[in-house]
Formats: sequence, C-alpha cells, structure tokens
Amino acid sequence: MKPYAPGEQPPPGKFIKLNTNENPYPPPPAVIHAITEAASGPLNRYPDPMSTSFRRAAAEALGLPGPEWVLAGNGSDEILTLLVRGFVGEGQSLRLPSPSYILYRTLADIQGASWEQVEFDEDWRLPAEFSQSRDDLRLVLLPNPNSPSGTVVPPAEIESIANSLACPLVVDEAYADFAEENCLDLVQRNEHILVTRTLSKSYALAGIRFGFLVAQPQIIAELTKIKDSYNCDAISIAAATAAMQSQAWLDENVAKVNQTRSRLASELAGLGFDVVPSQANFVWCTHPSGQHRAIYEFLKTNQILVRYMDFGDWGDGLRISVGTDEQIDACLLMIQRALTQLP
Ligand code: PMP
Repeated sequence: MKPYAPGEQPPPGKFIKLNTNENPYPPPPAVIHAITEAASGPLNRYPDPMSTSFRRAAAEALGLPGPEWVLAGNGSDEILTLLVRGFVGEGQSLRLPSPSYILYRTLADIQGASWEQVEFDEDWRLPAEFSQSRDDLRLVLLPNPNSPSGTVVPPAEIESIANSLACPLVVDEAYADFAEENCLDLVQRNEHILVTRTLSKSYALAGIRFGFLVAQPQIIAELTKIKDSYNCDAISIAAATAAMQSQAWLDENVAKVNQTRSRLASELAGLGFDVVPSQANFVWCTHPSGQHRAIYEFLKTNQILVRYMDFGDWGDGLRISVGTDEQIDACLLMIQRALTQLP
C-alpha cells in the first residue's frame, strides 16, 4: 500500500513554516485558559465520549438546530477516516477530484476499496463526469476550498452534483472559514451532503487535533457506532469548546490572514508567477521557468519551508501557506533571490 506522506514537520523554531497551512498566529486566549483548567481537572477519568460541550458550542456558533447534527473527531482526518470506513467497503469505490487531497486515496486503500480521480479543468472547474452515478460508487469527496488550488465550487453547483449522485457527497471544508461561501445550509436540506470541518486552520489549533462532521442526525448516529469510544481527549474537548465560543477572534483572524493572502498573491504575480485566486489560507503558484523544485530547495536552504507538489503528468508547483506579514516578506525576498539564481 502507498502511504499518505504528510508535509514536513521540523522541530519548532528552525524554519519559517509555510508548508502545511497552519495558522501563523496563536489560538484564541480563551483556549489557553480552558486547557489550563482542564489540565487541573479529573484526568484519571475518561473524557465525555460524545464531546457534548464541544458539539453544543459548535451547533450554536454555526446556527445548526442542535448538537445532534455534529460529530467530533481527532482532527478532520479522523472524521474522513470514519466516513470512508462507514460508507465504502471492499470492492466498492470512492471518487475524488484531482489535483486535490490525496489522503482520500489511502483511506480507500485501507478499506480494500478502489478510488477514481476526476481531473479539474484548467480553470479549476469540475467536469460533468464528477457528477455521474455509478453502481459501485459509495462516496464522493470534494475539498472546498480545494487544496492545493484554494479554489471554490459554488454551493449551488455542489447541490446539483449531490442531486445527480446516488451516494453521499462529502464537502471537506477544512478551509471554508477563509472563503466567501460554505455548504452548511445545504446539509440542513439535503441528507446527501455532509460537511467536514477542522480547528487546525482558522482556529489555529493544529497541535490539538480536533475536527468535526456536520450532517443530518441519522447519519451522525450511524457514524457514532463505528468511532472509538473516547476519540477526543478531555483537554482537547475543553480547548475546542473554547475555540468555538471565540467567534469574534475567528472573524478578526480570518480578516488578517485573508489580507496577507491578497498581498502574497499580488506580489507573487509581480515576480512573474501564475497565481490561482485563492479563498483559503494558502496560494498555489507556478512560474514560467518551471523551476519549482529548485525554488523550494533554495527556500529550504534558507530556512523557509513551502510545499513543493508534483502531480505527475498534470504538472507541479508551489503551495505557500499564508504566514504573518513579516514571514511573507521574508519568503518573497528569498523567492526573488532564488529567481535571480536560476539556471
Ligand atoms: N482536509 C484537507 C483538504 C486538508 O488540507 C487537511 C489538512 N492536511 C485536512 C482535511 C486535515 O485536517 P486536520 O486533520 O488537521 O483536521
């Protein structure tokens, strides 16, 4: 089996880290307080198996009818694992777009299932093929905003894709807080649309490992049967609950990140890059020189980590996460230097 290779995670402090779409800012202050409180709580006891405080806070923050619409997990990767485990069996298949988040393929492999990739067109739109039903197709997964492009399929189009499929459509909204639109309303009127979210990006909590699913209550109830009893620990539940209660912090953080994203995109364009308009906390860019690996290596030698991605025949490029303004200035300066040194 081919493993999924996550981005490089060097020890803290050595690099300006712009490779795994983390938030460059510390999490909401209420989270730190909640962690301290939880750490002095009864850690000899098992945590709440259903992460009830978190589910209530999430339902309230997102305007959902109630906590029964939310399932908490150890990162959204665990939620995605549960979805594939629950819906896709041996000999069945799942569909994903390409280039996109290839973890889904590994999750299918674990199940002894197959996966089918459908390529985006050159404007990062989905071809009609993506919506076609097939007998063995049990789950369709769509990151929205997509990674590595940061592009968005509009909710109206997502609804029409879901309506032409005979299986559920999972909209992976890991980056949706940075985007203009999301699919939460669709979940409430269409039982075939499921949304996954994470606290790793917009809530600056990648180190905590917390993600969740928003789906109709009957689906949450079924997936609850196949999760580990205590899939989220007491400290993480406390932290994630406090994060969901920090919506003003979220709005401010997203505004700051999005502002830096615009500047990063326009300055990269000024350096000759082709930059895909992004609604996430990263940008995908390619350079006419095609020297993406060399630029990545040059940056790494100079203590700046970005993500070099090679999608085979489709091509390669650089995905750069939005950092603080100072980090982005340092990155742009080093890219400029790299370009002057290319063969
Ligand atoms: N979905 C997408 C599209 C991602 O890029 C990531 C981050 N690698 C995840 C899900 C997983 O996020 P986490 O497990 O940290 O919640």
